[in-house]
Amino acid sequence: MGIKTLTRENYMHILLHPPNENFVLITFDDGYENVYKYAFPILEKYGLKAAVFPITAYIGRVNLWEVPFLGRHAHLSRSQIVELHRAGWIIGSHTVTHPDLRKLDEQKLKVELGVSKKSLEDIIGDEIQALSYPYGLYNAKVKKAVRDAGYNIAFKSAGKLKFPLDFLEVPRRSVYISDFFIRTKLNPTYERYYLLFERVANYFARLSPAYLTIFSKSAM
Ligand SMILES: [Zn+2]
Repeated sequence: MGIKTLTRENYMHILLHPPNENFVLITFDDGYENVYKYAFPILEKYGLKAAVFPITAYIGRVNLWEVPFLGRHAHLSRSQIVELHRAGWIIGSHTVTHPDLRKLDEQKLKVELGVSKKSLEDIIGDEIQALSYPYGLYNAKVKKAVRDAGYNIAFKSAGKLKFPLDFLEVPRRSVYISDFFIRTKLNPTYERYYLLFERVANYFARLSPAYLTIFSKSAM
């Protein structure tokens, strides 16, 4: 398809200066262990990097925070997160406990954003710059707290990539188990269909929390 993946080294620069090439950033929310077991080896095989956003209270634990539509699953361990970071992946925060950040007071916001950032920094020994909003939800108060906590970039869910980009509202496309035709998803012609599908799918559950941020001339 002639698409390149963004890497930890180039993603901020490319978001600032969108090139005339097609780029995709693959991101995984919630930090399930299956990202390490299945996605990591396949992506490594093709020399591709991705981003993963663990929920820090659940590192090395099962998904007690979620309604178990698909059963209980393990999250990434500390050593798996370190390994992904060493391999060149972007490690970002998905908060401490996965709350709707809009509903928190200032103090709780500070904890969810600051403590998760610090925990991950202690694990990887590197700065955490990226956040993924739980459920993709945020408002002006949340954005301010994200900026104050020291994040440089934050990802939401649906939406069209527009330039100049608001770095605290970077949109993504959800990828679900039902997405057999990933090529279709990368084609802007189908925008309206998958935005509709996304709304329906999000209504029920986030079954497979993987996302894409797509950069292409036609999408701008
Ligand atoms: Zn999530």
